Amino acid sequence: MEFGQYVLKVTRELLGGQVKSLSEMERRIREALVRLGQFVLGAWVMLQEGPYPPQRIACPCGGEAEYLGKREAVLLTLLGRVTYKRAYYVCAQCHQGVCPLDERLGLRPGELSAELESLLGMTGALMTFAKGSELFEQLTLTRVSPQSMDKATQALGAEMVQVEREWLQAGEDGLALEAQERAPKDGRRLYGALDATKVHTHAHQEAEDEGWRDLKVGAWFETHAPPPEAPQADWDIQAEKVTYFCDFAEAKQFGKLLWATGFQRRALQASELIFLGDAAEWIWNLVQEHFPHAVQIVDWFHAAEHLTGVAKAAFQDPTAQQAWLEHSRSLLWEGQVEQVIQACQEVMAGPRGQEEARQAATYFANNASRMDYATYRRKGYQIGSGTIESACKQLGVQRMKVPGATWNLEGARLTAKARAALLSNQWEMLTARREYLPRVA
Ligand SMILES: [Zn+2]
Repeated sequence: MEFGQYVLKVTRELLGGQVKSLSEMERRIREALVRLGQFVLGAWVMLQEGPYPPQRIACPCGGEAEYLGKREAVLLTLLGRVTYKRAYYVCAQCHQGVCPLDERLGLRPGELSAELESLLGMTGALMTFAKGSELFEQLTLTRVSPQSMDKATQALGAEMVQVEREWLQAGEDGLALEAQERAPKDGRRLYGALDATKVHTHAHQEAEDEGWRDLKVGAWFETHAPPPEAPQADWDIQAEKVTYFCDFAEAKQFGKLLWATGFQRRALQASELIFLGDAAEWIWNLVQEHFPHAVQIVDWFHAAEHLTGVAKAAFQDPTAQQAWLEHSRSLLWEGQVEQVIQACQEVMAGPRGQEEARQAATYFANNASRMDYATYRRKGYQIGSGTIESACKQLGVQRMKVPGATWNLEGARLTAKARAALLSNQWEMLTARREYLPRVA
C-alpha cells in the first residue's frame, strides 16, 4: 500500500471508530502512531539499499565478497519488530558473511537497536528491571521483558567499562600528564569525595563472591556555595558538574579509576583540590598516593556522629547528654581537636561509656589533621560530603538494594556503572558509541 493511502486509512479508522473518551482516543492514536512508525521505519531501511546490488564488493580482509541474494532479518526497535531484506555477501577468501547495509546503518539484526537499547538501559539504570519493563511498555507501547532491560543496561555498563579503559590509558600518557601539570592553574576549586556501600551479591561460581560486597563510589564536583555557618545550618552544598564513578574493585584497582577520572576532570590543573570522605583508611591512602597535594577533610557529619555515640553511652540524663554533645561539637566545629580528645578522656575517667569514649578519642587523634574545620570554613571549603553521601545512596542504596534480591556480581557492577554514567550526564556520550558497533568476527 502506498504511504499516503495508508495514512488516510489509519486516520479514517480513528475518526470513524466508536470512541467514548479522550483517554481511549489518546491511546488509539498512540497505537496508530507506533504502527505508522513501524511502517515508515521498515520502508526507510529498505530504501537505503538500491534494487540492484553489485555482484562483488571488497572485503576488509583484502579479498572479494560475492553477492548471494537478499536475506531477511529482524530489527528490535522502539517501534517494535521490523522485518527487512538486504543484500548478503560471502567472502571467498575469509568466508565471512557480510551485509553492507547493516554495517553502514549500524543495524544489529536480532538485537536491540541502539535507540531501544539506550532507552531500556536508562530505565534499567533508574529502577528494577521488573518495574522498568512495565513502565516502559506503558510509555512506549513496546513490550520488552525484564531480561531485555537487564541486558540493555549491562550493555551500557560494559560500554562505560570500555570508556574507563580509555580514560585509564589517557591517564597513563606521560606527555598528556605533563601538559596538564604544566598548564597554568585554572582557578577552579575541585572537590573529590570517596565512600563505599554494601551490595548483596550471590555466589556465581566462586564461593568468595558470595554475600555483601563493598561498592566503592567516588564523585568529582565543583560548588560555589559558601560553607554552612553553623552545624545546624542549611547543608545544601549545591554541587555542580558532578560526575560519579564506582566499582567493586579492591582499593588499589579503584585508585586507578580515581586517577583516571581525575585526569578527565583536569584535577592537576585545578587551583585547589579538596577531598572529602569518612575516616576509612583506604580512602586517605588512595588520596595520598594519587593526589598528595590535595587538602584532606574528614566529612563533618561522620566526625560529629562519633560525639553523638559517646554522649549517648556516657549520659543517661538527656540534659547532661545534650550539654556534653553541644560542648564537644562546638569544640570540633572550631577545629579544637585536642580539646575534643580531652572531653572524651574525661568520659573515659567516668562511670559510663568509657569504651565508646576511648574509641572516639583514638579516632579523633588519628584524623586530627583532617578536622581543622575552622580553617577550612574560613577558606570557604565545604566540610560535609553531602554529595558523595547521596551518591552512595543514589548509586548503591536506591537502585542496588532491591528487597529480597541478590545480584550476580558482574550484573551489579555493570548496572551500577550504567547508573553512574546516567547520573553524571554521560549517557549521550555512551549511547553515541553504541550506534555503530565494530563487527564481531
Ligand atoms: Zn574476507
